[in-house]
Amino acid sequence: MTGSAMRFCPFCGGPLVTRHWEGRQRLFCPACARPLYQNPVPATCLVVRNPAGQVLLVRRSVEPQKGLWCLPGGFLELGESPEAGALRELAEETGLDGVIDRLLGVTIAPNAEYDTVLMIGYRVQRYEGRLQAGDDADAIGWFDADALPPVAFDSHVRFIRQAVGEQAQGPCAAVQRLEKMSRVARG
Ligand SMILES: [Zn+2]
Repeated sequence: MTGSAMRFCPFCGGPLVTRHWEGRQRLFCPACARPLYQNPVPATCLVVRNPAGQVLLVRRSVEPQKGLWCLPGGFLELGESPEAGALRELAEETGLDGVIDRLLGVTIAPNAEYDTVLMIGYRVQRYEGRLQAGDDADAIGWFDADALPPVAFDSHVRFIRQAVGEQAQGPCAAVQRLEKMSRVARG
């Protein structure tokens, strides 16, 4: 629930007001005399590629962006590690059991329901199982990275480009870039 939609304190049930507190406008409960801190909601997604280099996408059967395609993934459950949550979503939506080999990155993305999502992207190196769309996906397919269908989320497009670009440059390209940057920084 976004801040603008939240009207009552989740701790005491009293009405919330908006107050300037610690550097920004926040929801505040006068009865509890405390602000209501709101944070991004963490979610994961995975870039899975087949031996031909195609990217695995699922078609969303739920809002937001129902009918558009996206990477397999979803929201973390309480107490769940990001890697475990990502692989659980992969199994639920595609039927595949995967092995993560690296973190692609972490970014934020706007979300209609939660305002801001913290999106964690992983690359899957190996997988097994039989493809079957399930859970929040009603179709599934492999797509060439330069011929993607409409993708629901910009953050997913960025992770796809990153994974495909890194593979094209070789596995050490990102490390080499960092080393080059640090050499430049040292002068
Ligand atoms: Zn309260």
